[in-house]
Amino acid sequence: MSKEPRKEEFKKAWKEQERQKLIASIPMSHQDLRDLFSHLDRESAPQCDHTLRETIEFLQKRGLEVGRIVPWLREYGGYCDCEVIYNVDDKFGEIVGR
Ligand SMILES: [Zn+2]
Repeated sequence: MSKEPRKEEFKKAWKEQERQKLIASIPMSHQDLRDLFSHLDRESAPQCDHTLRETIEFLQKRGLEVGRIVPWLREYGGYCDCEVIYNVDDKFGEIVGR
């Protein structure tokens, strides 16, 4: 039996559940997602033009499912290339090993 207060236990379990949900939602391989973040975050990246241009280019180059991945990015606040870094990387970066 754990000596942790029940509240902490619940919190932990809930957090783990949320994490599992996030992991299950990712519509591409972790490797591809990590590479996408690195690609958008690279030093020579052009300034964001408030579209997902760079993101979509990357997905197409890899032959990934743009039609599934773009709505997923938006769901997590990634409406343009820089928001993918600010919002989506923030939430999923650690999961995919950034
Ligand atoms: Zn932007």
